[in-house]
Amino acid sequence: MAKYDRKMQDLKTRLSEIYDIDMMQSLLGWDQSTYMPKGGAEARGRQLALLARLSTERSVDKKLGKLLDDLQPYAESLPYDSDDASLIRVARRDFERLIKVPPSYVAEFTEHSSNSYMVWTEARPENDFRKVQPLLEKTLDLSRKYGDFFPGYEHIADPLIDFADYGMKASSVRALFADLRAQQVPIMKAITAQARADDACLHGNFPEAKQIKFAEDVIRTLGYDFNRGRIDKTHHPFMTKFSLGDVRITTRVKEHFLGENFFSVVHESGHAMYEQGINMEYEGGPLANGTSAGIHESQSRLWENLVGRSRGFWEFFLPRLKEIFPELNGVSLDTFYRAINKVERSLIRTDADEVTYNLHVMLRFDFELQLLEGSLSVRDLPEAWHERFEADFGITPPDDKDGVLQDIHWFAGFVGGSFQGYTLGNILGAHFFNSALKAHPEIPDEMKQGKFETLHSWLQENIYQHGRKFTATEIVERATGSEITIEPYINYLKTKYGELYQL
Ligand code: ZN
Repeated sequence: MAKYDRKMQDLKTRLSEIYDIDMMQSLLGWDQSTYMPKGGAEARGRQLALLARLSTERSVDKKLGKLLDDLQPYAESLPYDSDDASLIRVARRDFERLIKVPPSYVAEFTEHSSNSYMVWTEARPENDFRKVQPLLEKTLDLSRKYGDFFPGYEHIADPLIDFADYGMKASSVRALFADLRAQQVPIMKAITAQARADDACLHGNFPEAKQIKFAEDVIRTLGYDFNRGRIDKTHHPFMTKFSLGDVRITTRVKEHFLGENFFSVVHESGHAMYEQGINMEYEGGPLANGTSAGIHESQSRLWENLVGRSRGFWEFFLPRLKEIFPELNGVSLDTFYRAINKVERSLIRTDADEVTYNLHVMLRFDFELQLLEGSLSVRDLPEAWHERFEADFGITPPDDKDGVLQDIHWFAGFVGGSFQGYTLGNILGAHFFNSALKAHPEIPDEMKQGKFETLHSWLQENIYQHGRKFTATEIVERATGSEITIEPYINYLKTKYGELYQL
């Protein structure tokens, strides 16, 4: 419809300017974590704050709202899944969310978060929760305030959960997690009652350059495109992007432990392949992003765990790893497979294995709800953490450093909505993998030959290409033919670990 052509063009120009400002923030952030000398910190903080302000101003510009209103009849005249209708729909959803939050609140929250983060970086090594307590109390206050900008919610956490995992609510996540917990705890107990797997083969002296080279070769085979990406080192691994043509990952290498770098790289490459796989037509707009935290994490976990920790995968790659590290020559496939799937009750979420990981997440999710509801106070949080941890894992955290202070999330962002995506990702990763196998039963055999194209193409077709065109719920229904369910995930755990531990 010609009469909408100009308005559509105007919309795309406005959205692409916002997109580019956001990408520039990512670039400055990446540089800050990789190569920036210390002396750059102050100016970098100022520059990032300026870009954040420019992005927000443009995102809530009344002219953008007017344009979206003018284009609404056009969107309604198109099929739901047409690119233009989807762009208008997603841009409107973003706009309507952002205009509900006053600029003064955004400024206050941004300043407070960076303060809180600074204090947390000192409080954690000092094991001093009281030092950040007042800041966390304010974060909780501000998180509730955020919820209140969206009246009509069922639970105060809903707007925060919706922010990361659009369409999900406290009640839906809670129901899913309750089922999962009931099934996963007995599996964990049965395994941890046995002798721990021996992972001595993963410990030794493995030079950094060789480790990185091996991981690079592996993810190139999985389908990560180095013409549109690269790997650098940071304190905490992450994926970031500056355009669909430049999707980078970072890693952390421990020369005495093989698992750290390898599984981080595969994990982050899963996030990156998702972004690299988005339809290039969406470049420069809100559709050119992953659709939710849970779907994003499903892609990293699928490649990291269902592929990268599978026996078939190592049938192919272990001989290659041995070429690089001949000291592994005496290690059998079975020994190696058991080592990379070692299960143990541990203190740190990010180091946790597949069997215990979700329990770490559920603990945090429950605390977020209780804190927001007011049934738990920030003051009592360390104590509550210790009690719950002991009940769930049977071990007592020796301190707060590796207890309540371990994750950055509550100290640099909202309390609420920040953790459920990790477990949703595990559930969904297995759900998608299961559907890919139904469509292509040859995938496990191909993995044994180091071939991943069939799996990669299925993900590309069903998930990657769509970007944000479809919501998480829509993606799940289209790709799997059913609603989100824990069944494939539980089956996967039972089959894999049942065999490993003769359950
Ligand atoms: Zn991840």
